[in-house]
Amino acid sequence: MRLIIRSEIIRMLIELARDSKVEACGFLFGRRDGDDWVVEEIREVPNRLNSPEAFEMEPFEMVRAIDEAEEKGLEIIGIFHSHLECPPVPSERDLEGMRLWPVPWLIVTPEGRVRAWTLEERGLMEVKVETVSSENVNNY
Ligand code: ZN
Repeated sequence: MRLIIRSEIIRMLIELARDSKVEACGFLFGRRDGDDWVVEEIREVPNRLNSPEAFEMEPFEMVRAIDEAEEKGLEIIGIFHSHLECPPVPSERDLEGMRLWPVPWLIVTPEGRVRAWTLEERGLMEVKVETVSSENVNNY
């Protein structure tokens, strides 16, 4: 079970975390490949809490993003957000969101730390993030 992401998408996520004074958030679009998730695109959604410590996706933009994924023939395979001041580990609030959205949650910091998590019946599990260069992505 891995989350496979091209290196330029990782770079975009880190830049979003760096450029935003509030937690950046949005969806990972992609597809399932056996046990793995392959990220094809990211779609930022405004954080309606405007907070450096929490996020909530703006509902209208969230619905638009879900439509966009469908139009592109992609699935929502994950949620990303940034942690500006704390390690890339889900907060209590994140855990509640993870119960509602049972997909991998990727957390990125401005320093470039990236970790992904799922909430399973047995508890919080880390998902391995595998970065690939664009040339290799079709091998998965
Ligand atoms: Zn968080």
